[in-house]
Amino acid sequence: METKKITCIVCPKGCQIQVKLNNGEIVSIEGYECKRGIDYAKNEVLDPRRTLTTTLKLSTGGVLPVRTKEPIPKKLLKKAMLETKDIIVEPPVKVGDVVVENIAGTGIDLIATGNVE
Ligand code: SF4
Repeated sequence: METKKITCIVCPKGCQIQVKLNNGEIVSIEGYECKRGIDYAKNEVLDPRRTLTTTLKLSTGGVLPVRTKEPIPKKLLKKAMLETKDIIVEPPVKVGDVVVENIAGTGIDLIATGNVE
């Protein structure tokens, strides 16, 4: 039996949740104060995801802030970062434009979070 301790970040209460696992299967979840904590803890244990935020170079100099449209699997964050290393974006770009499709094979796009004329 293994216990994972997770701090729920869904709301400012920051409940300390303990997830007990047996051979990778969740057997109990304790310490949450609402159902959102159960979902968060399950995802953190079974499929942790994060939104990647970074910057890409612009052909005109400077950088463009970008982020993944949705959180991507945590284990693919490094691969996704490496994919963005040599990308140079051609302006104009506006907020929400897709700058990289299917980053790291996740099926999720990288989008601009800034405007550049
Ligand atoms: S379990 Fe519920 S109350 Fe606790 S931090 Fe998460 S969202 Fe907030």
